[in-house]
Amino acid sequence: MKTIIEPFRIKTTEPIKIISREEREAALKAAEFNVFLLKAEDCCIDLLTDSGTGAMSTKQWAAMMLGDESYAGSKSWINFEKTVKTITGFNHILPTHQGRAAESILASTLIKKGDIIPNNSHFDTTRANIEFSGGIAMNLLCDEGLETAKIASFKGNMDIEKLDRCIREYSVDRIPFCMITVTNNTGGGQPVSMENIRNVKKQLNQYGIPLLIDCCRFAENAFFIHEREPGYADRSLLEIAQEMFSYADGATMSCKKDGLANIGGFLACNSDEWEEQFRNLLIMREGFPTYGGLAGRDLEAIAVGLMEALEIDYQIYRHATMEYLASRLIKRGIPIVQPSGGHAVFIDAAKFLPHVDPLRYPGIGIVNQLYLEGGVRGVELGTVMFGTTDEKGRETASPLELVRLAFPRRVYTQSHVDYLIEVIETVWKSRNSIPGYRITYQQKYLRHFTCHFEMVE
Ligand SMILES: *Cc1c(COP(=O)(O)O)cnc(C)c1O
Repeated sequence: MKTIIEPFRIKTTEPIKIISREEREAALKAAEFNVFLLKAEDCCIDLLTDSGTGAMSTKQWAAMMLGDESYAGSKSWINFEKTVKTITGFNHILPTHQGRAAESILASTLIKKGDIIPNNSHFDTTRANIEFSGGIAMNLLCDEGLETAKIASFKGNMDIEKLDRCIREYSVDRIPFCMITVTNNTGGGQPVSMENIRNVKKQLNQYGIPLLIDCCRFAENAFFIHEREPGYADRSLLEIAQEMFSYADGATMSCKKDGLANIGGFLACNSDEWEEQFRNLLIMREGFPTYGGLAGRDLEAIAVGLMEALEIDYQIYRHATMEYLASRLIKRGIPIVQPSGGHAVFIDAAKFLPHVDPLRYPGIGIVNQLYLEGGVRGVELGTVMFGTTDEKGRETASPLELVRLAFPRRVYTQSHVDYLIEVIETVWKSRNSIPGYRITYQQKYLRHFTCHFEMVE
C-alpha cells in the first residue's frame, strides 16, 4: 500500500476546544501579543514546540510503573545508562533534568571568557549558556543552509572551510570544543550528513579540538541519513546513530525531543577529566549522578523512548506528516523552507511578508495571525529569537526570518493537519494587511520567551 498510516492507535484522549475569534483576540492582547504568554488551553493546535509535548506509548507508561525511586544506584538509572551507552557508546553518562541543564554544566566547566564555540547553528539555549559563561557562539552553517528555497539533502551541514578559517583566526587555545547540532533545529530542522560529521571530526583532530554533538534529534537525523546518504539504506537507525556518535567526544541531549519523554536530558563524554568536572557541578545543580534531577520513572520512560525513536515505522510516519503539510503549502505557493525538516515545517516569513521590515518582526506578524485566525500556536525563529543588540541598543536582524510549526510526537492526526492547512491558507490570503510589531519590554537573555509587543500600523 502507498498510504502511510500512524503506526499506533489511540487509547487515551485529551479534549481540545476552539474558542471564538473574539476570545482569541482578547487572549492575545492579554498575552502582550507574545504567544509564549498564552494559556495552552486557549490554543487548539499547539505547535509551539516538539519539546516535551509528545505522547508516550503503552510501553513507556508501563515502564513508568517500574520506576525505582531509590536515591542512589536505582534500577531505573541502570536501565537508562545502559540504553544511552548502547546508542552513544560514550564512557560517562550524566542525567540532567533537560537539555539546557547539560549545556549549562558544559559551558560553566569548559568555557573561559573570550572563548569561541563553533557550531553549525547554535540553539537559543546553547547560545545563551555559552554567552553567560563569557564565550562567543559562532554559527558556521554551510551556505545552502541559508537558502530557504534550495532543495538539498543535508542543509544542516557545517561549512568545513569556515571551520578551518575560524580555528586559524582565533587560535586553538581559545576553542575548548566544537559542537554540531543534529538535526539543525534553528536552521529549519535540516539534517547533517555522516560524511560531514566525519569531516568535521577529521578537521578538529588536526588541532586536537574535541567535538560535542547537540543530539536532541539524533534519531530523526539518523532517518535522513538512512533515506538520503549513499551507503546507509541497509543500515538500521541504531547502527547509524552509533556511527554518528562514534565521531564525537561527548554530547548534550534533551530527552524531550527524541527521548519521546516529557522531561529529561543528559550530558555524555569519554574524558575522565571532564566527567569529574561535570559531576561536581551536576551534584550541586541537578542531583546525585544516578538521577540528575529526574524521577526514577522518568529515567524508565526515556530508556524506552530513546529506542522507540529509532524504530523505522515511527520515523517513516513522522516524516510523512511533515511531507503531507509541506507539499500542500508548496502547492498553494506559500513560501516554506525546502525540503521540510524532521520535526517541523518552517514558513519563510521574509518572503511571506516582504512589506514588513526585519526589525518589525515579520515572523511575529505571522505567528499572531495564525493564532487569531485559527487558534494555532507556532513560534518565530527570526530576529526576536536570534537578532543581536549592541551596547548602544542597535539591533541587527537574523539572517533568516522563519516561523516554525513544530509537531509534538504522536499527538496530532491528519485531520488536525488539514485544519492547519486551512488556517495557514487563510492567513496567506490576508497577508498584505498583516502588521509588523515593536517590542515594548524585553529581558537580556532569551528575550523571546517573555517580551511584550505592540502592533505597528
Ligand atoms: C531543545 C533543544 C535544546 C535544549 O533542550 P531543553 O530540554 O529545552 O532544555 C538544545 N539544543 C537543541 C537543538 C534543542 O532543540
